[in-house]
Amino acid sequence: MPSHLTNLDAILAAVEDRRGEVASLTTDLIRFPTVNPPGDAYRPCAEFIGRRLQRAGFTVEYLRAEGALGDSDSYPRTNVVGRIEGGQPGSTVHFNGHIDVVEPGNGWTLDPYAGTARDGRIYGRGACDMKGGIAASLVAVEAILADGRSFPGAIEISGTVDEESGGYAGVAWLAKKGYFSPPRVDHVIIPEPLHKDCVCLGHRGVWWAEVEVKGHIAHGSMPFLGVSAIRNMAAFLAKVETELYPRLAQRRTAMPVIPEGARQSTLNFNSLHGGLPEQPDEQGFPAALVADTCRLVLDRRYLMEETEDEVRGEIVELLDELRRDRPEFDYTMRELWSVPPTMTAEDAPVVRALDREIERVLGKAARHVASPGTYDQKHVMRIGELRDCVAYGPGQLELAHQPDEFIEIDDMVDSAKVMAATTLRLLYGEAA
Ligand SMILES: [Zn+2]
Repeated sequence: MPSHLTNLDAILAAVEDRRGEVASLTTDLIRFPTVNPPGDAYRPCAEFIGRRLQRAGFTVEYLRAEGALGDSDSYPRTNVVGRIEGGQPGSTVHFNGHIDVVEPGNGWTLDPYAGTARDGRIYGRGACDMKGGIAASLVAVEAILADGRSFPGAIEISGTVDEESGGYAGVAWLAKKGYFSPPRVDHVIIPEPLHKDCVCLGHRGVWWAEVEVKGHIAHGSMPFLGVSAIRNMAAFLAKVETELYPRLAQRRTAMPVIPEGARQSTLNFNSLHGGLPEQPDEQGFPAALVADTCRLVLDRRYLMEETEDEVRGEIVELLDELRRDRPEFDYTMRELWSVPPTMTAEDAPVVRALDREIERVLGKAARHVASPGTYDQKHVMRIGELRDCVAYGPGQLELAHQPDEFIEIDDMVDSAKVMAATTLRLLYGEAA
């Protein structure tokens, strides 16, 4: 009875032999400036991955999410999915990586789209989040296929879009079409950068809302004749600062969230604007007016131990107290987005397989973690209704979205070995 151990050593050696390949593939992927928004260069990047999969023997489909949020003829949302059958009946292991990256921002000392190799690292936007992870999974699977034997089941690899903006034209769209559901797929691994010795079981919840505080317009020289929406918003912010933040800091979770600072409830103000837009210099001063509106976007990350109703309720309570206690305070609230916390069971097959192979390849026990922010796992689990899904990939979470983002070549090779061994264990079953 063949087990996944039959040819494991040869396959791990084949991954090691492909060290240069992992690095150059990462560089090649970084050179596609797949910045989201707006969603540049998706099609060529998807086709590059598709051609590589075809060369390895995969059947490849390009799937444009027509009609999905963000899709247009100028910025088509093109996803790529490849599948290869092993020649024997069995389950399917799927590696899913997002091809989009966030904009570089300021502070780079290297070209963000050059994919520069230096000191055992590859630098560039998306090196760690998550083109290095895509490269590692591709090379892991290529090493399995190079072995040439038939195997049970099938392997799939997808490159999907828009993870950085919610994944609606990417994994969510494909999941609605059955691409992330049994019987097509049984196990999903998302190579997000969460450290090569960690299995990421899920993520905290998200609740976004826009609060608009209303005022009453008047001449800026006689503010007593109006109601300043900015001062009223300041009263709300003061209440959040003195009453809500201390409460949130107390709320610890049993979820193994990394980094440590995110193991509690958090709240960020994404944006704040009151009154008229500021004028560009050449257009003089803005008009002298009391601000009659002030808008704030809240980004609340919440825990398994909290509910969305509670999260919403404590914001509404603060606002309602102000409406009661402060003359002429009025507000509206619009909910923008929410995702509940997501966690895969620690005894799920994909988790157990990764635990065993991390220990075998790296010689140390795997750590179970959870991500501070949400990622595409939510769509696999909620739309695809597939519970056997985790994130596992090379790279340091803290480098994601930073200037001079990089990935260590050693980390990619190590995690590619873990991915190859885990794929075989899942396909061949539990033996050994
Ligand atoms: Zn990512």
